[in-house]
Amino acid sequence: MQQQWIDRDVAVNWHPYSQMKTSTHLPIVRGKDAYLFDMEGNRYLDMVSSWWVNLHGHSNSYIADKVYEQLNTLEQVIFAGFTHLPAITLSERLLELLPSNQEKVFYSDNGSTAVEVALKMCIQYAYNQGKQKNKIVAFKDGYHGDTFGAMSVSARGQWTAPFADLLFDVLFIDAPTAENLEANKKIIAEHADQIACFIYEPLVQGAGGMLMHQAEHLSDLMVYCKSQGVLLIQDEVFVGFGRTGTLFAADQLTEKPDVMCFSKGLTGGTMPMGITTCTEELYQAFYSDDKKKALFHGHSFTASPIACAASLASMDLLLLDATQAKIKAIVESHYQFAEELKGYENAKNVRQTGTILAFDWETKSETSYFNRVQEKLFNEFMKRGVLLRPMGNVLYILPPYCTEKEDLEYTYQQILELLNNNDI
Ligand SMILES: *Cc1c(COP(=O)(O)O)cnc(C)c1O
Repeated sequence: MQQQWIDRDVAVNWHPYSQMKTSTHLPIVRGKDAYLFDMEGNRYLDMVSSWWVNLHGHSNSYIADKVYEQLNTLEQVIFAGFTHLPAITLSERLLELLPSNQEKVFYSDNGSTAVEVALKMCIQYAYNQGKQKNKIVAFKDGYHGDTFGAMSVSARGQWTAPFADLLFDVLFIDAPTAENLEANKKIIAEHADQIACFIYEPLVQGAGGMLMHQAEHLSDLMVYCKSQGVLLIQDEVFVGFGRTGTLFAADQLTEKPDVMCFSKGLTGGTMPMGITTCTEELYQAFYSDDKKKALFHGHSFTASPIACAASLASMDLLLLDATQAKIKAIVESHYQFAEELKGYENAKNVRQTGTILAFDWETKSETSYFNRVQEKLFNEFMKRGVLLRPMGNVLYILPPYCTEKEDLEYTYQQILELLNNNDI
């Protein structure tokens, strides 16, 4: 039965980030809380939050009810020339939670588009003032999405090689440490008058391998960029909505960004939506009697009312004391487990930021996404009923906030058993 569906799937579907000849794709028929279920009744603990999007568990009935209600009220309306209550309310509530300088909300439909909008805002901000700024600064090993602009500002590698000639030039700098502030400042100072913006993943560089840096070092760099008139785009697509232990990574930084990007956890992981927020100052550069100064960007499903309803419901849940307590409990459990991991020789660079725990699984071959240990570990964990999907040899745990303590403990136990297993 299951095999039939797998066969039908490969006959018609082309999966993301997959070499279709060598990959397999397991049909999932149901999800509840932290669990996913296959056709044979096996259950899997979703310890990657389904590609980092899920916050409150699968098939959350509170979100489902709110979405159903919205579907029966207004499912969609063109967002140019029209508006609707879910978008107004969501923007108001989100801005309330963001750094105080964030004043306007622009909707799109995924993380990559949220980034595209941010880049266009910053480049046109200069253009609308009669300046030409065409340089962008980004971190090495960053990831901001798969569309061309987002790809350009992300790390270059195997994935981007076919498109290398078509990607625009970016000044890549090292993620901040206590030592490299002066070197980074120098690069920025040399090009300051041509730099439109600096885009970065705050605190955790997710797809780059859950690389972490300290808030204090990023804050220093942000302060310097501000002093040089470089706009800051803070990509919280991954880290937003509680992942780092605070509501936003911004809550741990002393400097405020000019532009912020959100997606992934925005709807609690139920629906695609992207948001780009900005300051009043940036917005004012577009606000004019001159039509040409407008931001000419939009998507068919801009500010989807049902996605807004899902986000509002997810926000209700996120702000509950009970959810905040769960997040705190995950952070504390991870901390204990990280300490334990440090006693294992083959667990290198054990690192944690909030609910995100990661380490490098030491193997003979070099760290890379294409490293075979990935497949081996993935299969072993699946056999044990845990969905963990290493990036190369970087193993990370990213639980939905609803995860029960015993399920976390079970996951930790499986990791320790496999670390002790000499066949890996
Ligand atoms: C996933 C991700 C994106 C892209 O989001 P998509 O919805 O997958 O297009 C952008 N920035 C960061 C930091 C991400 O982790």
